[in-house]
Amino acid sequence: MFIDDTIAAIATAAGEAGIGIVRISGSKAIEIIDDIFRANNNKKIYEDQRKLTYGYIFDFDNNEKIDEVLAVYMKAPHTYTKEDIVEINCHGGMIPVKRILQLVLRKGARLAEPGEFTKRAFLNGRIDLAQAEAVMDLISAKTEKGFEVAFDQLEGSLSKRVEEMRKEVLELLAHIEVSIDFSEEDVDEVTLDYLLEKSIKLEKSMTKLLSTSDTGKILREGLSTVIVGKPNVGKSSLLNSLLREARAIVTEVPGTTRDVIEEQLNIQGIPIKLIDTAGIRETEDIVEKIGVGKSKELFNKADLVIFMLDASRELTNEDLQIIEMIKDKKIIVLINKTDLPNKLDIAKICHLIGERSIIKTSLKEEVGLDELENVLVNMVYKGEVKSNSNLMIANVRHKDALERALNSLKEGIEAIRRQMPMDFIEVDYKNVWDYLGEITGDTVGEDLIDHIFANFCIGK
Ligand code: GDP
Ligand code: ZN
Repeated sequence: MFIDDTIAAIATAAGEAGIGIVRISGSKAIEIIDDIFRANNNKKIYEDQRKLTYGYIFDFDNNEKIDEVLAVYMKAPHTYTKEDIVEINCHGGMIPVKRILQLVLRKGARLAEPGEFTKRAFLNGRIDLAQAEAVMDLISAKTEKGFEVAFDQLEGSLSKRVEEMRKEVLELLAHIEVSIDFSEEDVDEVTLDYLLEKSIKLEKSMTKLLSTSDTGKILREGLSTVIVGKPNVGKSSLLNSLLREARAIVTEVPGTTRDVIEEQLNIQGIPIKLIDTAGIRETEDIVEKIGVGKSKELFNKADLVIFMLDASRELTNEDLQIIEMIKDKKIIVLINKTDLPNKLDIAKICHLIGERSIIKTSLKEEVGLDELENVLVNMVYKGEVKSNSNLMIANVRHKDALERALNSLKEGIEAIRRQMPMDFIEVDYKNVWDYLGEITGDTVGEDLIDHIFANFCIGK
């Protein structure tokens, strides 16, 4: 692909701020800045590459001084995009950045599409696709751990692992091809044994990498959790306690329906999207209020349901109704109000919900929250020691490609075991090679690439 136009965008977030940055990338960047910038030391900006130069942006067509700025020129190819880049640090706020951007566009740059700077870094070969995707994950990371995973991916940890695997596939393919060329006689046992042994090893490491994808997805996208229970069991109290513990109320986004509120929590590094059915009128039955279909939809979307019961009241029909609706979900059962005399038949609950975690709490006396957090964290890390590695499959696209690669490898192994013809076996290994290559972007089409970068923010 040949890129010859020059792009520009505001690289900082919208709104009032200390500084705003307008970024320009492409062969015309230097010409454009030369046209609109006057340095206080009267030097040309390209004389002092990679140094911030103090001066003013001018619209010389009207002789208008636009803003006081620091500008920097970075010469290709050692830049973010591998092209010439100019960055103008002006005053933050909508007006200065907008006016400077407009001027830059008038001088011949084109407004960059979302993610286009990073896309150029990818197309110009500075980073691969997994690394490019990590850039956006870094920006949107909700917890430190999520950030660390994305950062390692940007540094190439995932790409390196995938490349190692592809190298092994290539080596196997070479053996297979040699065998095809000598296919007069039967393929010798030694070659088959060798292929089998190597393939089983590869299968193991691919399976291991794939096993990180559940945790990875949660760290990247958050664990969506629904709190459910009949009126007065303590849903709102739980929400408030968790919010207080987590300290990090990031946002309060109104959900898709009026009745549902979403809160973002950070529990020991795990981003949790708490979907709060407490927003549904307390006095009414949740199922009646939002309808069976809708509540099912709500539960279906959830990764986890926290089901609350009241220790001071007997089981009611409403409890049973809820159990019926959530019985196939991942559930944590909270028996709340344990400070009050018990009237709940716990044995019966165990019977109804099977092998599920049951936690006893008294939110009033702040008992049981630590245990809830621990159960949650263990669920996400599946009991493995947490944070031992940041190498994870966090992206569904990567997971899907790795899954297909693993399936093809399994088919290849099966074909070897059955002593199928070598050119038959070869097809499977070529698929493994291709599918793995999708992760790093080696074997993906333009459409997919466009689609990925379209989800980036402007100016990155
Ligand atoms: P919701 O309707 O499920 O959201 O329940 P709320 O969180 O609004 O709680 C209903 C009532 O139960 C409130 O008066 C709370 O103070 C009280 N409550 C919540 N948790 C406990 C608890 O652990 N023990 C006792 N005794 N009362 C609680
Ligand atoms: Zn409530």
